[in-house]
Amino acid sequence: MDRFTCTICGHVYDPAQGEPGQNIPAGIPFEKLPADWSCPVCFSGKDKFEKV
Ligand SMILES: [Zn+2]
Repeated sequence: MDRFTCTICGHVYDPAQGEPGQNIPAGIPFEKLPADWSCPVCFSGKDKFEKV
């Protein structure tokens, strides 16, 4: 699965780890995150992320 990085703060979403702080379990591809999901660090939307 592809990792995506936040173009604002550099946070990386890694599907192998999920996003424990947001109750996103491991194994969820970036594309499957909710449309209103936002970066846990800077709260940018999914449109600010790009594939690593
Ligand atoms: Zn960010």
